[in-house]
Formats: sequence, C-alpha cells, structure tokens
Amino acid sequence: MPSSSTLATLLARNATYATTHTPIPTNTQIKTSSTPAYKTLIISCTDGRISPDKFLDIQTPHEFLIHRNSGGRAKPALPNLLALDDLVTIETVLVIGHTDCGARTFDEEMIRATLKQRASGYEDVVASLEFGRIAGSVEDSVKEDVKFIKESPLVRDGLKDSIFGLVFDIKTGVLERVA
Ligand SMILES: [Zn+2]
Repeated sequence: MPSSSTLATLLARNATYATTHTPIPTNTQIKTSSTPAYKTLIISCTDGRISPDKFLDIQTPHEFLIHRNSGGRAKPALPNLLALDDLVTIETVLVIGHTDCGARTFDEEMIRATLKQRASGYEDVVASLEFGRIAGSVEDSVKEDVKFIKESPLVRDGLKDSIFGLVFDIKTGVLERVA
C-alpha cells in the first residue's frame, strides 16, 4: 500500500537522522535554565514549504511555540493560544500568512457537501466546521485574524498590544509586517 511504503521511507529517514540527533532539553531542564522559555507563539500554515523555524532562523526552539493550520488562521488557533497562555504566559503572537497559499483555493461548500453525504445525521456538525478558507488576499486575511484575536474577550488584555501580522513571500524569503 502506498501509505505503508511512505511510512517505511520516513522511518528509514528518521533512523538516519537519529544517528546524529542532539538530545532536546526536557521541560524540567528548560524551567531551570536561564534561557527564556516559550515567550512567542507563531500561528502559521500547514504548508510544508513554510517553516518559521527556518525563515526566522530560530536558534533556541523552546523560546517559540508554533501552531500550524491550513491558511495559518486565527480562529482554529484560538483554543491553543488560550491554553498555552494559561500555561506559560505568552508575550508575543505572530500571525504569519504566506504568498501562494493553498487555503485561497478551498471550496468550503464542496467540502461540506462531501462530508454531509459521508456522515448523514451530522449536518449541524458539518455546517459549524470552518476550514480556514482565505476568501480575499493573504494580507487581508492576516489583518482580519490579528483583529479577531485582539477583539476576542477571551484573550488577556496584556497580550493584545503584542499581536502582529506578517506575510512571508515564498519567492524572496522576505517577511513583511502587515498588521
Ligand atoms: Zn498556506
């Protein structure tokens, strides 16, 4: 089966990787170290081409939390943001969209029609699902998402001044602030 051969390939790659892997600090070690831990939450896209740890040149991975979903949308990220802020007190949130994002081509009505056919009796559940579609430009979607987080009554007031929106250009590698 294709899926099991994909898994076998990936496990083989991992076996090679593990031979040179450097152990990652445990949460207990991080808590007692002098390096600041988990201060910035990045919300970005699931797209495999988009790697915030690469384009932000993140050297200390445990300073960052990265939430990824299709389109890098704020709404599906909100429960995560709230839980993580409760756990570690986040100082900065970066909402990062990117050029050529596939979420602009999502047809939510088509997805819903397929799901309703697959799971009859779950029409309400299907109707309530959002799939992260970007209806206009990526820049507008990032601005809308920053506004959404800032206007949420669930988000801590102290965090609201430190929410920024950016767009990553896949051709130039440049990250531009848009909100
Ligand atoms: Zn994308």
